[in-house]
Amino acid sequence: MTELEPVQADGGLASSAAPLRAEKPSLAGATREGVGAALADIGTPQREIRMRSAQLWHWIYHRGASSFDEMLNVGKGLRGALKERFSLARPEVVSEQLSRDGTRKWLIRLAPVDGRDRGAEVECVYIPEADRGTLCVSSQVGCTLTCSFCHTGTQKFVRNLTTAEIVGQLLVARERLGDFPGRAPPADGVVPGEGSRFISNVVFMGMGEPLYNLGHVADAIGAMSDGEGLSLSRRRITVSTAGVVPRLPELGERTGAMLAISLHAVRDELRDRLVPLNRKYPIADLLAACRAYPGASNARRITFEYVMLKGVNDSPAEARELVRLLKGLPAKINLIPFNPWPGSPYECSDDATIGRFSQIVFDAGYASPVRTPRGRDILAACGQLKSETEKLRARALLAAD
Ligand code: SAH
Repeated sequence: MTELEPVQADGGLASSAAPLRAEKPSLAGATREGVGAALADIGTPQREIRMRSAQLWHWIYHRGASSFDEMLNVGKGLRGALKERFSLARPEVVSEQLSRDGTRKWLIRLAPVDGRDRGAEVECVYIPEADRGTLCVSSQVGCTLTCSFCHTGTQKFVRNLTTAEIVGQLLVARERLGDFPGRAPPADGVVPGEGSRFISNVVFMGMGEPLYNLGHVADAIGAMSDGEGLSLSRRRITVSTAGVVPRLPELGERTGAMLAISLHAVRDELRDRLVPLNRKYPIADLLAACRAYPGASNARRITFEYVMLKGVNDSPAEARELVRLLKGLPAKINLIPFNPWPGSPYECSDDATIGRFSQIVFDAGYASPVRTPRGRDILAACGQLKSETEKLRARALLAAD
């Protein structure tokens, strides 16, 4: 497999203009309430719904079943009734790319919703490391925030993902990694060390602003962290936000997820330009909301992400100001080398500058702060998502003419 050519799966780019058929509603990605409602819908007696829901839940989320026929402890009659009305379809993987560092990026096509779009697409990235495997999921198609250094921000917002589409990214990734019990792992991948599941962590750092889709994100976290199903610990699920201040309390209360804040600047005048949402919720308000974040403690620190932009936000004085601003907050700092994209108005700070910045942060008591860019060769790194896909699509359409 080469790094730069997408590997075609399930049809590939050339067939992507084909109309999508209206399918039966899928239970893959449903909440517990959704599964119960589906059972009620097909006339399951009320007294059986709890037990049957638990069975379905186990098959869908623990075992990763892709057909009702696999559910051997569910009676044939019920399986038939389920099959008639519902499916277990997952979002479709249009292509998969494998980076030389083991990072995988999937382009995922979603079923059309309410005729408002024709199968929108999102990207989802898997990053294997020695002690963990992290899945980076998207919460929206496109984004409304227009952060000036982020490529996703230059693409137009299409819609929020549904709960099932968010959970579906984890199902698709586990399926392709062989990360359900009894399934084989891929032969061509770098996977984490013995004993851990391929996907041990989920970060909401793909496309979109999760706090502008909080209801679905919270329900998805509920399904992902359910101990009888996908079983991810809530402490291993991180939601990254540009700082939608009024929604932070609800995020903490409803999800118990770890919080990451895309800070990127220590002065409002600069942050207004980098993260325009700052004009609405300036730094002081954002940090006050972080201080009040439910569940933040030294054991559950808030991550502050800081993208390193050459000559823009990377001076020693800014490093010292960053440390001063975060004083007293249970914080971790994550320095992200800027990932360039075609036409981007910024450059990445050079290594010596990043080193100096990180030393100041380190001397103030914050450990291991620089994030290694992963999957840059397949444009899977932070802020690079989606764009390459659009270019490939345009190329495929031209070739088809
Ligand atoms: N909207 C959310 C989540 C998505 S972005 C948020 O803003 O947090 C995930 C992280 O990647 C954010 O910290 C974002 O600011 C950062 N990022 C975006 N573009 C980048 C780029 N080109 N290089 C490095 N990091 C980038």
